[in-house]
Amino acid sequence: MPHYVFLCRDCNKKFEHVLHISELGKTAVKCPHCGSSKIEQQAAAFAAVTSKKS
Ligand SMILES: [Zn+2]
Repeated sequence: MPHYVFLCRDCNKKFEHVLHISELGKTAVKCPHCGSSKIEQQAAAFAAVTSKKS
């Protein structure tokens, strides 16, 4: 599942949200920091998790 990065326009904090592609546009994403719905979507972060296997 892709993580989408959002930017809150109210508190200017970035947060990630796991969202299915079919939910995008339907789901009202709110800022977890201030609860604002003034959200701007940033680039989708596919496989942003760095997994180091040693
Ligand atoms: Zn916020």
